[in-house]
Amino acid sequence: MDRTVDLRSDTVTQPTDQMREAMATARVGDDVFREDPTVAELERLAAQMVGHQAGLFCASGTMANLVAVLTHCRRGDAALADAEAHVLHYEAGGMSVLAGTFPQPLRTRDGHPTPEELEAVVGPPDVHRPPVRLVWLENTHNRAGGVAYRPDRTAAAARWAHARGLRVHLDGARLFNAAVALGVAAADLAASVDSVMVSLSKGLSAPAGSVLCGSEAFVEEARRWRKALGGGMRQVGILAAAGLVALREMVDRLREDHRRARALAEGLAEIPGVKVEPDRVQTNIVLARVADAPGVVGRLRAYGVLALALDTHTIRFVTHRHVEDGDVERAVQAVRAAVAG
Ligand SMILES: *Cc1c(COP(=O)(O)O)cnc(C)c1O
Repeated sequence: MDRTVDLRSDTVTQPTDQMREAMATARVGDDVFREDPTVAELERLAAQMVGHQAGLFCASGTMANLVAVLTHCRRGDAALADAEAHVLHYEAGGMSVLAGTFPQPLRTRDGHPTPEELEAVVGPPDVHRPPVRLVWLENTHNRAGGVAYRPDRTAAAARWAHARGLRVHLDGARLFNAAVALGVAAADLAASVDSVMVSLSKGLSAPAGSVLCGSEAFVEEARRWRKALGGGMRQVGILAAAGLVALREMVDRLREDHRRARALAEGLAEIPGVKVEPDRVQTNIVLARVADAPGVVGRLRAYGVLALALDTHTIRFVTHRHVEDGDVERAVQAVRAAVAG
């Protein structure tokens, strides 16, 4: 049987040979004592790429996001986030159960709140409402279908927030996908926010890790919260070494993933019973609407094609380094067969 075409997520990417070599030879030290030169180098590079002063290496994107909430907010504060944000769906509720911050979901037109959409839910201080402290953004937006938002969208939300004394965090797990798709620097996409998280372990193929970036003062406090969460690691330059390869070598090739996602969308759009909007596919995520998403995903397995059902009607396909042109064609044929029953 042919090999499996795994379109569940870009997190399944294997570390590259160059990463394994860098890991084997990395200079390391105790990073809780701030003595790991490889971690320090990764944090500097990530911060520079997103245009912020400092970075903090975290075990995962979920941890980096949680550290950001703990650093920005106090117990009882509220954070405004699009109702489809990753943090509301896939991070085990850490924002509320661990940080004590109330996540207030926003209805937005396209996943990225406009000043008007933010204004609509925030009134003057009122005893009925938790005080809003944080505005949460996501770029690219996973559940919206990998949508990349231009820098002016982020700047508009940030201007609105800063005028009210609020902070802005950007969940940029796939920020480099957005930068590549839009042809802008990641720093342009993160310039107006107070903190930004980027993942190394998705399309960039590192085995683990995300970097939380912000001002020197923000990262200093974030470092204490990371310790409180048990995220102070020792000779973790072993992992950071792979992260450095991810940032240096793996960003430009994301355009390949985007090209294949677009091809996949165009192929799927031809299939009766499948609704896809190829023109909306900007990065490496394709959302397909079908009558019975779990049923189709289950039947796809028999054809050696893996995908995720996001809900009863939506299948998510994600392209990445291990998905080749022939795999896209195979996936389209498999979906055709699986939808037919
Ligand atoms: C994957 C992801 C995260 C969380 O990262 P993990 O490393 O899986 O914890 C956060 N936000 C978005 C948008 C993601 O896609």
